[in-house]
Amino acid sequence: MNNPKSPTQGAADVRRVAVVGGGISGVAAAHRLAESVDVTLFEAQRRLGGHTDSHSVWVEDKVYTIDTGFVAFHPSGHASFCQWLAQIGVPTQRTDMTFSVRADEEGLEYSTIGWRTFFSSSELLFSLKHWRLLWDWQRFHMEAPKAAEHQGLVNAGEYFRQNNYSERFVQRHMAPLCAALWAQSQASALDTPLQHLASIVQNQKIFQHPTQSLWQVVSGGASQYLEVFAEQFPGDIRCNSRVLRVLRTDSSVVLETEHESLEFDAVIMACHSDQALDALVEPTTAETNVLGAIKYMDNQVVLHGDATYMPRDPRNWSSWNARIDAQSGRSETTYWMNRVQGIRGPQFFITLNPQSTPKRIWTERKYRHPVLDADAYQAQQRRAQINGLDRTFYCGAYWGMGGHEDGFRSGVDAAEQLLAKLPSLSRSTGQGQGGYAADMGNADQSQGG
Ligand SMILES: Cc1cc2nc3c(=O)[nH]c(=O)nc-3n(C[C@H](O)[C@H](O)[C@H](O)COP(=O)(O)OP(=O)(O)OC[C@H]3O[C@@H](n4cnc5c(N)ncnc54)[C@H](O)[C@@H]3O)c2cc1C
Repeated sequence: MNNPKSPTQGAADVRRVAVVGGGISGVAAAHRLAESVDVTLFEAQRRLGGHTDSHSVWVEDKVYTIDTGFVAFHPSGHASFCQWLAQIGVPTQRTDMTFSVRADEEGLEYSTIGWRTFFSSSELLFSLKHWRLLWDWQRFHMEAPKAAEHQGLVNAGEYFRQNNYSERFVQRHMAPLCAALWAQSQASALDTPLQHLASIVQNQKIFQHPTQSLWQVVSGGASQYLEVFAEQFPGDIRCNSRVLRVLRTDSSVVLETEHESLEFDAVIMACHSDQALDALVEPTTAETNVLGAIKYMDNQVVLHGDATYMPRDPRNWSSWNARIDAQSGRSETTYWMNRVQGIRGPQFFITLNPQSTPKRIWTERKYRHPVLDADAYQAQQRRAQINGLDRTFYCGAYWGMGGHEDGFRSGVDAAEQLLAKLPSLSRSTGQGQGGYAADMGNADQSQGG
């Protein structure tokens, strides 16, 4: 998209800033900067959004927009992001975060939709283990926020062991829930630090009637907010422009793409930490250590219409559905997008890392997630050692818990730190400015970023 120039653009005394990466963190940074400086937003893919990725599916002359990446947010857990959506005028609608678990070999199936679905059979109604799960859930809700203040870094699995939580609660509720939240295997999901889990689970109410849920989605698909942002943004958006090299000099930052080389006063790296490190020419030791410490893993996301991934009893169909294979111990998460996005029509399911191939596949994507383990936590604590040095600032969801709010807040923070520091930086000459801007295309790509 070649946006019209802002009133500031081209003026000799206005500073030029580059933002590398057009996911929520880069969009938030660019939006915050645009009032004060000339901003050029570089995005490697043909579309903005990164993990914000809506797909149009045509079925019998009707189009349905389905989110395969980021979808849901909560006014308290995503407070800054929600305020921003309201500020730029993006309509939202209610959803719920109901959750079901199905473990066929144990004859276990329940959902948190209500009492009837939680005790969906007489066996469950008379099962002490199942009542204990419920009791543990209530206990975790009451105790975890306080415990997180003192033991926030203890991993969730260890916390459950130390505090005598039941096997049913840990293996048949929390592990599949964490696996769904962080798109991980059950085993590694329990490595999540308690403070991350406690803060997210606070908004995860059990037996909450859908009309009382505060969770929201963007009406018409999450990518709607990108459209509104792009329309209002006065700077340059350059899609299809992967930044290959970032060279810092005493007087400027020079960015090289496949086609050109541009000079800026400062840069915000809003791509993943390892991608930022790859692009830096002569990174400092601290940059190498901090950015290189965070690992990433690929997740396959399949949008399909195969109901065998859902609970056997349709009354248990929830927004999030975990299916546990007793032999491998693996759990597979399937989002029922009709419920999540309020879609009437054919059934749309999204399964993360399916173990077999679903029938009726609409599209497949791959997204990379940061692995938020102890190494990542240590790296997060060292952000100040690299941020703002050599005219280079960093943002991304990897600085927090990997959620959209983390990305949004880190983008705004990086922009504000940059604006505070900019007057003390010498001016770049602006050589190489101008040239081209690529279109913000919507073409499908297999790699979601
Ligand atoms: C399937 C899925 C579901 C999710 N659901 C939710 C949810 O419901 N709620 C929630 O809060 N969070 C959710 N998340 C997490 C959250 O959406 C993401 O973590 C967040 O959007 C990441 O934003 P980001 O800007 O840090 O990174 P990204 O969105 O990955 O953006 C980084 C961008 O940088 C670009 N880039 C990389 N290298 C370069 C380069 N050299 N030059 C130019 N551009 C480059 C990439 O192409 C990409 O567009 C979900 C994530 C996934 C994958």
